[in-house]
Parts: sequence; C-alpha cells; structure tokens
Amino acid sequence: MSDERAERIADFIEPLRVKPGSRVHLGRDFDPRFKAGLKKRDGVELLRTGVSLLAEYQDRLAAQDTYGVLLCLQAIDAGGKDGTIRHVMSGVNPQGVKVSSFKVPSAEELDHDYLWRYACRLPTRGEIAIFNRSHYEEVLVVRVHPENLARQRLPEESSGPDVWDRRYREINRWERYLTDNGFKVLKIFLNLSEEEQRARFLKRIDRPEKNWKFSAADVLERRRWDDYQDAFSAMLSATSTKWAPWYVVPADRKWFARICAAAVLVHTLMDIDPQYPDVGDEARQALLATRRDLEREAPAGAPADPYSESASRRHGKKKHGKKKHRKHKRG
Ligand code: ATP
Ligand code: MG
Repeated sequence: MSDERAERIADFIEPLRVKPGSRVHLGRDFDPRFKAGLKKRDGVELLRTGVSLLAEYQDRLAAQDTYGVLLCLQAIDAGGKDGTIRHVMSGVNPQGVKVSSFKVPSAEELDHDYLWRYACRLPTRGEIAIFNRSHYEEVLVVRVHPENLARQRLPEESSGPDVWDRRYREINRWERYLTDNGFKVLKIFLNLSEEEQRARFLKRIDRPEKNWKFSAADVLERRRWDDYQDAFSAMLSATSTKWAPWYVVPADRKWFARICAAAVLVHTLMDIDPQYPDVGDEARQALLATRRDLEREAPAGAPADPYSESASRRHGKKKHGKKKHRKHKRG
C-alpha cells in the first residue's frame, strides 16, 4: 500500500477527529452538511475504493489473527447507522465481521454491571466487531432519561451525581485495556442536523416500505434534541482519547457519511498493517513435499497440476469446460 494513499486518507479524516482533551460543542464545532468540497458522483468511486481496501485489509487482519478491531457507531435516530454498516461493509467477508445492535437492556443484562453486555460482544482476534449503538448509550440515553439509571439498581454510593464522570473514566480505562491487549477501538458519531432528521422522519412516514422504520418513540426523543446534543458534546469531550479517538462524521449527506466511515476504518486497519503469516522454511519444505505427492496421485491422462498455467491451457478449458455437471441423467 502506498504511503501516499495512507497519507491522503489520514489528511481526509483529520478534521473529523476530536482532539483528545478538547472541549466539544457539537453545534458550534461540527457542521452536519460538510462535504469536503466533494460531489456526490465523486463519492461513488471513492466509496468503491474504500470498500475494496477494507476487503483486502480485513482478509489480512483475519489471516494474521493477532489484532481485533471494535468500531462503535453512535447517532441520533435516523442518523444512518444501518445504511452506513450495510454500504461500508458490503465487500467484506461476513465471516470476519460481527455486528451487534444494542437496544433497551433485558432483565438479565440489567442484573450485571453496565459494561457486561458490551464485553460479551467484543471482537475476537482477527475479527472486526461493529457496535450499532454501544456502551456509550450508558452516558447518553441513560443520562437523558435517568429512569434508565434507576433500573440498573446501583448501590446508593455508586449512583451520585458524579456517576457520569466516573463512567467516562471507566470507559476510557476499559478501552485502554482493550487497546493494550491488541483490540483497537474506534468510534464514529454520525452528526445529523435537526432539520435533516425531520426530513428523514417525513420520508419514513410517506413511503410504505419505510414505515416499519418509523416509531412514535423517535418523535418523543426528538423533543429532547437539546439534551441529547449536550450529552453528545459532553461524551465527545470526555472520551476521545489518543488510543480510542472519536470521529464526528457529517451525516446530512448519506453518501459522504459512508465515505468518511470507510476512510476511518481503513485508516485504523492501515495503522495495524496486518501481514499474511509467513509459514517459515521448514513448513514451506513440508508443503512442497505434499505438493509432489499430490501430483503423483494424478489419474492417467490428467495433468499433474490442473491449475498450473500450462496445464489449464492444454487440458482444462477444452476438456473440463464441456463436461456435464451431472454424470447420470435421471430416467
Ligand atoms: P433503528 O434505526 O432501526 O431505529 P435503533 O438503534 O434506533 O435502530 P431501536 O430498536 O429503534 O433501534 O431502539 C433501540 C433503543 O434502545 C434506543 O432508543 C436506545 O436509546 C435504547 N437503548 C440502547 N441502549 C440502552 C440502554 N443502555 N438503556 C436504555 N435504553 C437503551
Ligand atoms: Mg430507532
């Protein structure tokens, strides 16, 4: 991979990264309509490039089997989390990716510490895990609606007003622990404007095939817009760290949000730079010996190696190409 390309991607995502320690005011610092001077038609090609780079790096990540990647996606309702996952991961081998969506916690989940259910869905080595909503709900919806905190039945000494600052600290340390153990954590916040959310809700109501996506609860949540913006700003200020940074992705234009999300993920994978394992000389010699044995097993008339270039030129295309798939016709 060219360093120049890696540099271009790093430059592209730099304005989206929340500088660790900076104080974020979402409405003032980030524009949901920003598109870096790009046009939608440039976007198609860029996303295609991003998707194919992701496929290549994910294959190497799985082969190396040393690092895992956790991508946390947060957004307000209709922010585009589902579409982002669908498009960005479209070229990736499904065996190497695990997507988990987090909803209102179940009774069993509430019976544990608040990070438990997220820990259960972490990536294994070689895997990319995507959290569609994440442990950050614990300082967002739980903060905006404190009745959620009451349901968690914390002891009195743990549920005072310092609970949010404590959770930020605990989350930062947990992510540090994961990073130190080979699991890279990156976090994307899809930043949607209030007006674009209104337009998307209207679309969900008008189009029958989108009705299932609409929930009256979403409109109730919309009334708490300012409280959510405050909770987002506080979260971004407290939990963007050197080891697990937040990226605020402008989300009013879906095509641009998808390019940004792909770029952020590719950047992380490039940073890991996973390599296909080298099996070593001894194992290589053993492979070559097995190869010779397999060649000797070729039936009379068959090429020793049907996939070798000269053999497929001589035999393969003519002989095997015309062969019927089914040997015996049914009577
Ligand atoms: P969609 O885009 O399909 O609407 P969604 O992520 O909004 O996807 P929903 O089933 O609509 O999924 O909503 C899940 C709900 O669960 C959200 O309102 C979210 O705030 C809530 N939720 C997630 N985590 C928690 C939590 N820890 N405590 C309370 N509520 C939570
Ligand atoms: Mg929803």
